[in-house]
Amino acid sequence: MQATMDDNHANTTPSAAGIKDGSETVILFGKYEIGRLLGHGAFAKVYHARNIETGQSVAIKVICKRKLIKGGLSLMANVKREITIMRRLCHRHIVRLFEVLATKTTIYFAMEFAKGGELFAKVAKGRFSEDLSRRYFQQLISAVGFCHSNGVYHRDLKPENLLLDDNWELKVTDFGLSAVRDQVHSDGLLHTLCGTPAYVAPEILAKKGYDGAKVDVWSCGVILFVLSAGYLPFNDRNLMVMYSKIYKAEFRCPKWISSDTKRFLHRLLDPNPQTRITIDEIILDPWFRTGYIEETNIINSIEFDLIGHNEREYLNAFDLISFSSGIDLTGLFNKAYSVSKERFVSGEEPETIVSKMEEVAKGEGVGVTIKDGWGLKMEGQNGNFVAAVEIRRLNRDLVVVEIRRRESDVGPSQRIWNDKIKPKLLGLIFQSERRVDVCDGDGGGGG
Ligand code: ADP
Repeated sequence: MQATMDDNHANTTPSAAGIKDGSETVILFGKYEIGRLLGHGAFAKVYHARNIETGQSVAIKVICKRKLIKGGLSLMANVKREITIMRRLCHRHIVRLFEVLATKTTIYFAMEFAKGGELFAKVAKGRFSEDLSRRYFQQLISAVGFCHSNGVYHRDLKPENLLLDDNWELKVTDFGLSAVRDQVHSDGLLHTLCGTPAYVAPEILAKKGYDGAKVDVWSCGVILFVLSAGYLPFNDRNLMVMYSKIYKAEFRCPKWISSDTKRFLHRLLDPNPQTRITIDEIILDPWFRTGYIEETNIINSIEFDLIGHNEREYLNAFDLISFSSGIDLTGLFNKAYSVSKERFVSGEEPETIVSKMEEVAKGEGVGVTIKDGWGLKMEGQNGNFVAAVEIRRLNRDLVVVEIRRRESDVGPSQRIWNDKIKPKLLGLIFQSERRVDVCDGDGGGGG
């Protein structure tokens, strides 16, 4: 039997968060067939799901809004932050966020599915060889270094947040606790006490404020130790004893760990953040460089907040959910809805794109409202087609055009867009010998 997700389903207990276990097949927003429970964290459950149009496997993280509101505004802020950060980061070793869906009560993140599960589960079966530990450590540093250069610190790095894909490659997840550089206090240090005891750096325990980059390096050191030794460097049933070991960086390497690895571990697990090795130094270290392949040919990120656009002006999926976007879509989403999103890169001037889109839409009998700041809203007669378009400058020559379309009334809406409007806009798409990768929220190329 099939059930469609709607608010009634989403109104169940927070723990179930809208998805019931049992024999029923649950189809989320007519798009994702929900499968088994993959795991759960502090305020979310994560399910395996299949995109029924494409067959693609995804992971759906389900968060009950009520639970967040109960948890206070800071938790809600964490989710918003997670969305913003995950959308901004596009890297081979970071879990991708494809799209965000919502009902009035529940938020669903459709993410890249890490088929291999938690790295932790693998280590629990037995410690890794030096080469394998180094390989995962290199992938971890590649992801963490990339985050840092984008002003993002993970702050909760631990094996449970390190997943593996079907090629056994590392994927870092759970940016719920991350902080972006602009949230750093005026003294340049982060003050929130967060992280998991066994992995937290001494300066976090000291509660004097800390540098996000340095605490991540410490956690990477703990992770390298766990991979190589098969157990935690700082552990004790008595939390105070454990903390005192962390303060003094008091750990002993087992005899099977090579002297080179030991030396390197001591550089990472230096209790003094001032003298602790930095990411740049890690990358230059001979132990680290053994077999290291630098990923210079991958475009890992596209920054959307360039040239005169601040975060507030950037319409993200969360703005759509919370009805607080610059383009007011209130009233369009009075029932369970899904928003489909497409992007393309164009070499045309934003004004040219806006007028071309206006011309094509009007030609199809679709109403157009031009918005300030290179945007427009399209509305078909009878409300059968609704879309919001935003244009952002990527660099001096290129812009990204993003089209968000309501998908709840699937048939007519899709036909107007796919068969009538979209084909006439293909000329706007940037063509080049060199492939331009767009970090697309729904995994599709768009256009
Ligand atoms: P929380 O943010 O509430 O801590 P997590 O994001 O850590 O939740 O997810 C909880 C668990 O769900 C993870 O430890 C992992 O086992 C599983 N999980 C999370 N994301 C994925 C994913 N993309 N692919 C596969 N499993 C995942």
